[in-house]
Amino acid sequence: MPIRLDQSVQFLRGVGPRRAEAFARMGVRTVEDLLYHIPHRYLDATSVTPIAKADVGSEVAIVGRVVSKAVVPTRKRLRIFRAVLKDESGVIECAWPGQAFLDRTIKQGQLLLVTGPVKYYHGRQVVPREQVVLSEPDEDTESEDFVSGLVLPVYPATEGLSHRQVRRLVAEHLDEMVGTVEDTLPGDLRREAGVPGLQRAFVLLHRPSAPGEWEGGRRRLALDELFDLQLVVARARHLAKAAKKGPTFEIRKELTSALKHALPFELTAGQRRTIREITADMTGAARMHRLLMGDVGTGKTVVALFSMLLAVENGYQAVFMAPTELLAEQHARILGELLAPLGIQPETLLGKLSAQEKAAVRERIASGGARVIVGTHALIQEATDFERLGLVVIDEQHRFGVEQRAALIEKGKAPDVLLRAATPSPRTLALTLYGDLDISVLKEKPKGRAPVRTGVRGSKDREKIYAFLKERAAEGRQAYVVYPVIEESERVDLKAATTMAEELGRRLAPLSVGLVHGRMKSEERDDVMRRFRDRELDVLVATTVIEVGIDVSNATVMVIEHPERFGLAQLHQLRGRVGRGAEESHCILLCDESAALLRLKRFARTQDGFKIADLDLKERGMGELAGTRQAGGFSLRYAQLETDGDLVVAARGAALELIARDATLSSPEHRALRARVERRYERGMELFRVG
Ligand code: ADP
Ligand code: MG
Repeated sequence: MPIRLDQSVQFLRGVGPRRAEAFARMGVRTVEDLLYHIPHRYLDATSVTPIAKADVGSEVAIVGRVVSKAVVPTRKRLRIFRAVLKDESGVIECAWPGQAFLDRTIKQGQLLLVTGPVKYYHGRQVVPREQVVLSEPDEDTESEDFVSGLVLPVYPATEGLSHRQVRRLVAEHLDEMVGTVEDTLPGDLRREAGVPGLQRAFVLLHRPSAPGEWEGGRRRLALDELFDLQLVVARARHLAKAAKKGPTFEIRKELTSALKHALPFELTAGQRRTIREITADMTGAARMHRLLMGDVGTGKTVVALFSMLLAVENGYQAVFMAPTELLAEQHARILGELLAPLGIQPETLLGKLSAQEKAAVRERIASGGARVIVGTHALIQEATDFERLGLVVIDEQHRFGVEQRAALIEKGKAPDVLLRAATPSPRTLALTLYGDLDISVLKEKPKGRAPVRTGVRGSKDREKIYAFLKERAAEGRQAYVVYPVIEESERVDLKAATTMAEELGRRLAPLSVGLVHGRMKSEERDDVMRRFRDRELDVLVATTVIEVGIDVSNATVMVIEHPERFGLAQLHQLRGRVGRGAEESHCILLCDESAALLRLKRFARTQDGFKIADLDLKERGMGELAGTRQAGGFSLRYAQLETDGDLVVAARGAALELIARDATLSSPEHRALRARVERRYERGMELFRVG
């Protein structure tokens, strides 16, 4: 009987209950899962050299049995693992410096494939770059013949299921499995992207005949995954833009012009352009669903305010939603200052208000007395009736995923939506995370802003740095000291941050030093931040909780401890907390890891958030980027956004076009596609069930 892809792997010859269980631990349950369980690396065994011909100075791949082995100490306290390999032509020694642990996995009698350079050290010696066990002493031989001429795939393995066993199983069943694969990707898209068919892709991945061939296979799987994601995103976009029911805006130039005259500065060219883009959306037929993206300090708040006033002068209410209470308060203050000359007072809906006060604010919102309203996401989403809501501005939206954004739309009378993001993203990433939105980008900062002077220093400079902090404090300035706390070592890190705060308190006396971290209750944390804002504290020791939004323009120095433990984009985000006033500001990276110096120095030289975001994407790849996982659970397994930009663009074009024709993917010819999207992005499919 032919196998089916949706069958359990256990139906495959060679897989019993025990192995099926081991497979399940790696997420492989069905035959199809096994096809998608692709090698995580490959060994180039296209030309295996007979051991006798492994010449000093050459790069080789050799296959031989382990005839002896030992762990050898050296004078430098480095322990070397050594093994002698033998084939029909001769013997050679292999040496793995500093890898004594290999003694536990490499055993006498095993057949090994080893790749690496041949050096001279008391004779010929291979220093392996990679090695793979081809067979155990008592196993029937996976012979040299079998290996030679191949690129050897190495699979993710688990206890009870070695990579060899996985490889054998895949090799044995590959043709049979591949034969049943159906390709649901539109052929036009596949050809445009220049990737192979799905069957061919699996062969390239599992049985490449030359090094590098697998890349074509990977790109094919990446395209599938990006296309599925873009379908979800295009659907969200379709829903968002189609839902124009309520507001219609006209250009009136009343409040907006008044604001322009009242501002103490000229708008930058970028601000004028983005205001035009937003105005076109708001006065146009489709609903606005736009992202305003730009580095901190590029003047996004002012742009957002123009859009709010456009709504207000058309007789609508405008809401500004911030992620936290503290940020809402801060925005209310800033908007209040900018609006004062126009005689408009923003209404604030804050958690700290008494029940009675809240009720009064809600009443003014419901009756229409309040025109500009500021509050937290939570408070505003929670049961607030508006008299006539026209525009919602959402701050720091990277905490929102595609579906959460879509959920907002369904609420109420479908107001226009403007999201503000202070985290620049590279274009391909933006199209992925924010593909449902139109994007306006603000690049330049207002003229006359002094850059944050960034320097890399070591522990030996600590005294000098503390003296510098004291001098700045004597001038009335404040400083942040940032300490990394990562999940894996949270307890130790928190302790270190706490100790650091205590020590700084002593060493910087009589300056007052405060501490905030993510494990504090949010009220407690807000309280410390407020004290810092009100200048009761001179120095704030903080973990990355200060990354978003806190705006204390009197803080002009930031010291970052262990900067090597942060991604570049995160460092940039942190650095954005200083340099907010007219004063020159400083960011000091305190690093003793010589390996990290180069990238930190590169970071120190550039202030451009978009450039840094590009570097960050290249450095870390998609998987780890902050915000990725929260973006609706759309983690990408095969796509690498740093290199697959062309695939993103192609997938996006095809998805938009397809959703325009069949918005719910319900026509029979799209059934298979819909099923695939459903399997991959289960939650995203919710979007296809509404509207
Ligand atoms: P963002 O929200 O993008 O971080 P803001 O809108 O908060 O930036 O602006 C940062 C600071 O720059 C504010 O103090 C704001 O008043 C000021 N600002 C905004 N636009 C201009 C401009 N065109 N010229 C000078 N200063 C500006
Ligand atoms: Mg701002």
